[in-house]
Amino acid sequence: MNLARLLERTARLWPERPAIFHGDAPYCTYGEWAERAGRIAGAFAQQGFKPGDRVALFMTNSPEYLEVMYGAWWAGLTIVPVNAKLHPEELAYVLADSEATALFVSADLAPGVTPLLGRFPGLRLTVTPGTAAYTALTEARPLPLVARQPEDLAWLFYTSGITGRPKGVMLTQRNLSTMAACYFMDFGPVEAGDASVYAAPMSHGAGIYNLMYVIAGARHVVPCSGGFDEAELIGLSQSVGQLCLFAAPTMVRRLVEAVAASGADPAGFLTIVYGGGPMYVEDLHRGLEVMGDCFMQVYGQGESPMCISVLTREQLQDSGHPRWAERLASVGVAQALVEIKIGDEEGRELPCGAIGEVMVRGDSVMAGYWRNPDATAAALQDGWLRTGDVGSLDEDGFLTLRDRSKDVIISGGTNIYPREVEEILLRSPLVQEVSVIGLPDPEWGEIVVACVVGHPAVSAETLDALCLDHLARFKRPRQYHFLDSLPKNNYGKVLKTELRARFRSSSSSSSGPMTPSTPEVNE
Ligand code: AMP
Repeated sequence: MNLARLLERTARLWPERPAIFHGDAPYCTYGEWAERAGRIAGAFAQQGFKPGDRVALFMTNSPEYLEVMYGAWWAGLTIVPVNAKLHPEELAYVLADSEATALFVSADLAPGVTPLLGRFPGLRLTVTPGTAAYTALTEARPLPLVARQPEDLAWLFYTSGITGRPKGVMLTQRNLSTMAACYFMDFGPVEAGDASVYAAPMSHGAGIYNLMYVIAGARHVVPCSGGFDEAELIGLSQSVGQLCLFAAPTMVRRLVEAVAASGADPAGFLTIVYGGGPMYVEDLHRGLEVMGDCFMQVYGQGESPMCISVLTREQLQDSGHPRWAERLASVGVAQALVEIKIGDEEGRELPCGAIGEVMVRGDSVMAGYWRNPDATAAALQDGWLRTGDVGSLDEDGFLTLRDRSKDVIISGGTNIYPREVEEILLRSPLVQEVSVIGLPDPEWGEIVVACVVGHPAVSAETLDALCLDHLARFKRPRQYHFLDSLPKNNYGKVLKTELRARFRSSSSSSSGPMTPSTPEVNE
């Protein structure tokens, strides 16, 4: 099973169907897409790439993202999608760890990447879409589709960890096809006229959600902004119509308010799958009131991508149900091909209603972490994935997430791991101790806040500049608190809960000691 076969099959059935749009302008048909994917695969083969070799994509959302994805799969290669918002040094880590031998980098990101390239002699091919070199790839002699086994890697997705450096989540051909199958079983059918809009990063769940639309021979729309822009989406809902998108709760909130303010007809939004972080029930009510029945919820994680639980359109609309209110606050039920259980610290199953760690089993669960057997053994136990999320199941199988056992901060739908930020701040000679926490924020879900013990000369401005040099912008603290000491327990472990309680009120007033800049939509 090679996922690129899905494109080949659709292209045979409906070669003339419009497939990819850039904004509302047609970019290519299914026939043209498959043709280019086969040629890009041919270029890889001519240059000596072998099945299983890694191809890193450091690209903002673009039509070429889809072309390269299928070209690489066609040749049997493994894609390493890299969040376009990462700092070039973070990209360098992923390139080194994955031993990628090809890199596709968009023109807007190329200047930051070029200085790194000398450090990667193993990179045999570095290409920027839109250049003559890219065109040459799309004109190479086509390669017949390369056979792949279900357990072969399709997508090596880097996720940050609380313990040290990011880890490569190994997702196989079977993992991704299971995700697509579950979509059809749980979320519903996809029609030829539907249009999948990529408003969230294609390096994440939104990108792999293309599979269902390829299978159905539906349309793919990449916004010209390359990301999330409420006004642009409203425009596309009118010009393209039948829009289907994955959106983080932050994006949903903004979109709903923009639709309400503009008075636009929401009928052009067919399906909005929200997830990636908790959705406030208040926001959901407002969404249902303004946009109607277009919403569904997904709960997933890199290790079981877009594929743990689902809250369907029907369940969201079922206001007569006695447990409707609880269901709206839940993440729904296990998707059709996965099982969920709640485990204690040893992973033993807890009874209905008990709170414990959410554990998942099924064909969507990763094969493990790339070249990291210790982390794999900690995450996968007897075939069950330990998600690190804490929740409970009710008697109907609805899962409610209570907390996270990890200290991960979810801001705008993207995970930010405090340790990563702490390590950068500790590089300053003026910083003695630091603890980074997440505080609730009405707009972003959570914002990153740094509590610092340091020299009197330390300032928020210097620390912000340090973060800008080493971290993706969205991971920078939005507030700094300078303290004499950090609260600690008897073992010297910093009491993050106490810090969160202490500063919660100052974050809700939205004027912390420092707000470096307007946060960005990062999911
Ligand atoms: P990632 O691996 O970056 O996709 O992040 C996955 C994490 O995001 C999960 O482990 C959850 O903590 C959180 N998450 C994902 N979907 C939801 C959801 N629908 N509701 C609440 N939290 C979610």
